[in-house]
Amino acid sequence: MRTPVIAGNWKMYLTPAEGKAMVQELQTLTAGVTGREIVLCPPFVTLPAVAEAAQESAIGIGGQNMHPANEGAFTGEIAAPMLRACGCTYVILGHSERRQYFGETDAAVAAKTKAALAGQLVPIVCVGETLDEREQGITQAVIEIQLRRALGGLTAAELTGVIVAYEPVWAIGTGRTASPADAQDVCAFIRTVLAALQAEAAPKVRILYGGSVKPDNIRELMAQSDIDGALVGGASLQAASFAKIVRFE
Ligand code: PEP
Repeated sequence: MRTPVIAGNWKMYLTPAEGKAMVQELQTLTAGVTGREIVLCPPFVTLPAVAEAAQESAIGIGGQNMHPANEGAFTGEIAAPMLRACGCTYVILGHSERRQYFGETDAAVAAKTKAALAGQLVPIVCVGETLDEREQGITQAVIEIQLRRALGGLTAAELTGVIVAYEPVWAIGTGRTASPADAQDVCAFIRTVLAALQAEAAPKVRILYGGSVKPDNIRELMAQSDIDGALVGGASLQAASFAKIVRFE
């Protein structure tokens, strides 16, 4: 019922030429793979080259961030219509690196989510606890607050169009993955919070796990009932490893 999504977050890696080469190789390695959405989120300047290379394929393209306004005097920022014009249909919002290094708040994520939906982009909204929060036993409380603040103002139809990514901060880029059972527990909890917000939307929302996803752990993660895909950082930079994750069975 929920189409799996495997999304790659390239962060601040891969120039236009490198991105184009990666996509060409990925297309070859994933030819014939169906029944899932494959998404690549390159740096802004790499978007047009990747979008052009992916034109004839089923690979979707996304931004890694956006401003909530459609245009304006916001130096260094990118708007939803600009992402659309570069071929994007998705956008990552509230990634922990944006929260940690660029002061992104839940209120900002809420405004961006609304703007993304209005701009025909599928928001991939990231939530997750830090190691300190996990050790204090407040993982669920932290995630519930992030979800309520970011998604609380959405209608059922809007919420259905959102993808939530559960990314424990301590597992991002560290090589430490949440165990499939732990990831499932939190993703199931996320679905209960979504149900409290909009009961009819919650069973339809795709929930991804992110945090050191690799070819050798994707299968077990995907076997969990509330995990509908993955948001992949490091392992999405090489076509060979990302293709194995995309193939996950
Ligand atoms: C990410 O950047 O969203 C991520 C999960 O990174 P990594 O897979 O490298 O941990």
